[in-house]
Amino acid sequence: MAYPNARLKKTALAVCALLAVAAGVMLGTRKDEPATQVVQPAAVPASHALVPRVPQADKPMPVVQVVESTTPSPTLSPPASPTFVAGDDSDIPQLRQRTLTLPVQGVTPAQLSDTYTQSRAAGAPHEAIDIMSARGTPVFAVEDGKVAKLFLSKPGGITIYQFDPGSQYAYYYAHLDRYADGLAEGASLRKGQVIGYVGSTGNASPDAPHLHFAIFKLGPEKQWWRGTPLNPYLVWRDPKP
Ligand SMILES: [Zn+2]
Repeated sequence: MAYPNARLKKTALAVCALLAVAAGVMLGTRKDEPATQVVQPAAVPASHALVPRVPQADKPMPVVQVVESTTPSPTLSPPASPTFVAGDDSDIPQLRQRTLTLPVQGVTPAQLSDTYTQSRAAGAPHEAIDIMSARGTPVFAVEDGKVAKLFLSKPGGITIYQFDPGSQYAYYYAHLDRYADGLAEGASLRKGQVIGYVGSTGNASPDAPHLHFAIFKLGPEKQWWRGTPLNPYLVWRDPKP
């Protein structure tokens, strides 16, 4: 794969190197998407298919998930709660009440498009929205909370997992160009705080930097890599009729 500039190449190499290290420890990456307009080579990993929803947590882990056994034992996972199902409509009103900040500077709700249900790699649903913006545009924390994980993943690139104050939801920011200076795991965040900058790390096209933003409802284990996805678009916009 060719890289258009030395910086990107450097980033890519760094990501590769870190991934190699991380691979033995943690491969519970969030599902991410290949860039919308870009031809993705075969490099799009099978790791895509991975984050199982909680209701599937007791199933045998596919491929990459095997490595998760190095994290808290999956056998500790309680059975799926009957209230913990995808598409729980009560979550969106609750999130709306929080008046979340749009995570990309200068972008308004009217500029959002709903790509939540679009297919991405390996036919997996996107389960996120992409907010297009120039590289280097500040990315804001959508709400107060804390940094649950700073993670480098092959599809997502440089990513942040934020928990809300009650550890009820996780907010996922991907394809970042870089983190804000001093950002650290466990750090408290304030709504609107700059946490990183828009980029194209991971499998995003270098020509189309954007923030891949997802929200998921955490299970009782509060595991940053596992939850039930919710459509962020509906937090700021009404569904299209
Ligand atoms: Zn995306």
